[in-house]
Amino acid sequence: RALHRAGVMAEVVAAACAPPPDVDTDDCLRDYRHLFSPDILAGQVAFITGGGSGIGFRIAEIFMRHGCRTVIASRNLQRVSEASQKLAAATGQQCLALCVDVRQPQTLVAAVEEALKRFQRIDILVNNAAGNFLCPASALSFNAFKTVLDIDTLGTFNTSKVLFEKYFRDHGGVIVNITATLSYRGQALQVHAGAAKAAIDAMTRHLAVEWGPNKIRVNSLAPGPITGTEGYRRLGGQSAEQASMWDTIPLQRAGTKTEIAHSTLYLASPLSSYVTGTTLVVDGGSWLTSANSFPALLGIASSSAK
Ligand code: NAP
Repeated sequence: RALHRAGVMAEVVAAACAPPPDVDTDDCLRDYRHLFSPDILAGQVAFITGGGSGIGFRIAEIFMRHGCRTVIASRNLQRVSEASQKLAAATGQQCLALCVDVRQPQTLVAAVEEALKRFQRIDILVNNAAGNFLCPASALSFNAFKTVLDIDTLGTFNTSKVLFEKYFRDHGGVIVNITATLSYRGQALQVHAGAAKAAIDAMTRHLAVEWGPNKIRVNSLAPGPITGTEGYRRLGGQSAEQASMWDTIPLQRAGTKTEIAHSTLYLASPLSSYVTGTTLVVDGGSWLTSANSFPALLGIASSSAK
């Protein structure tokens, strides 16, 4: 009996680290088993920037599978429109696709007004839109550095401020900013994205302090390397896999989009009702131990560019 119990315990422990099913493309999951209560976001509406691809797409899907309606917004209207059709078909929830450039506040004002006209409410904002590439600081143009800060940092502020003024100030709400661990150890080739995301983590704390009295919670979620994303493909994920670089990280694998979506769901839901001004790192322990070698990363960058 003791042996049996030890076996069951081992299975339970393994399950606590096992990734849920995922698909690498921007398509909905074929199978989904609810871990959270299926109606945890029932009746709510989420506004997700960059929700037409990668992590943002999966966040929209998981929210919708938990009763939420969504607005997915990015520059490429065709991309978000196609995504919204897939999401609505797979989940039975409504998804509104809108065109925004987070660098242009007037596009955000128009989108938020349209979303409110359609749904009469917005409860959750996920600032997920971003741009990134590998580049040593010495080769980075002034404009390239500025563009990443414009999209990531200013884009997060612009969207948060428009949502605050149009709805959250009077009704409360939840903001989840998708950031990164790049600045924690000064990741090579990532001064632009690392600086941009560090500024967002700072913004998270400032806004949590100022907007807490309005019943607005503001948190960051910092993913590690996540499979099935543009970021993973562009930043050399598959080459790193082949080079067994994941063996050096504590959980010995990359994460999945569904895992990021589940952690975002936690931060957006009443399960985290007393959590604000913090950063949830979802990276399998990666930033603590993964390689930060300039030549190794350059090797990966050049082999993944082939
Ligand atoms: P992705 O698919 O490229 O997602 C980025 C999204 O942002 C796209 O849908 C893009 O859509 C949108 N976007 C870019 N510029 C925009 C702008 N100016 N205005 C509005 N939307 C804009 O990449 P991802 O890998 O899923 O990344 C999602 C988030 O996770 C990002 O914040 C990223 O920094 C973070 N992250 C990812 C990883 C990873 O391993 N993938 C690791 C750490 C952090 P349009 O082109 O249509 O505008």
